[in-house]
Amino acid sequence: MHELPSLKEMRAWSRAERARGRRVGFVPTMGFLHEGHLRLVDRTKERADRVVVSIFVNPLQFGPAEDLAQYPRDLERDRQLAGERGVDCLFVPDTAAMYPAEPLVRVSPGPMADPLEGAARPGHFAGVLTVIAKLFHIVEPDIAVVGRKDFQQAMLVRRLAADLDFGLEIDVAPTVRELDGLALSSRNAYLKGDDRRAALALSRALRAVEQAWRGGEADPGPLARRGLEVLRAPGVAPEYLALVDEQMRSVARVDARTVVLVAAKVGKTRLIDNVVLGEGVAADPAVRA
Ligand code: AMP
Repeated sequence: MHELPSLKEMRAWSRAERARGRRVGFVPTMGFLHEGHLRLVDRTKERADRVVVSIFVNPLQFGPAEDLAQYPRDLERDRQLAGERGVDCLFVPDTAAMYPAEPLVRVSPGPMADPLEGAARPGHFAGVLTVIAKLFHIVEPDIAVVGRKDFQQAMLVRRLAADLDFGLEIDVAPTVRELDGLALSSRNAYLKGDDRRAALALSRALRAVEQAWRGGEADPGPLARRGLEVLRAPGVAPEYLALVDEQMRSVARVDARTVVLVAAKVGKTRLIDNVVLGEGVAADPAVRA
């Protein structure tokens, strides 16, 4: 596995691979890799000849009161996991290389970034899409694979690529969960003892909404109330539970394409999760963590 910290070398490597007729696939991450990230790697290998994984904790997408300094990092372990999983190139730029000066020009994510995560984290998606645009320009992939775990982000990345003509395919992969339903996240490393148990409220709330919908309820009001009832568990501070379409608009009638999104704080840890109702939580791959 190649490990490249240099933007120039990364671009040269990718261009050389493409010049040889190889399809380059890309998985952007913030590192502290888990099985969710590694399934994105597997999926990329099925769709491309070469897999690039980037590890970059992007300061631009963290608010001033957020966990940038505490965000878990372990490059040694990431290197090992990526190598074992067959990643061809690990791109690990440092902050000074990515942002030699504070970027004055940034991507404006538009109205899909206004609600939910965008409302809870002002400026977050401008930071995400700006770094993703930079990474796409540096890696120049044919396909990028992102996780549905960050649903609003995945939909925004898809629109970024389409609206700004990046000329690459965006593939959205299902959420990988632990056997008890908790969605894998680097931030789960913060969950200890009671918090780990309490965190199950998110996936339980999603299942409760799904069950009520399968039972015939198609009005978003009662479905959201049912979900919030379950989300309001001891040790859990719900932030939102919303039923939206792929453009993050609230729906008037719920159908199989409707997505239920939740965010809650468990202790000091902020967690998010979601389900596409027609697919269901149980359809997501589950792994022993
Ligand atoms: P992150 O390192 O958290 O920025 O995530 C990097 C990529 O991995 C994003 O596309 C995420 O949506 C995806 N990802 C994170 N957790 C999961 C998960 N549990 N299942 C599938 N994809 C995930």
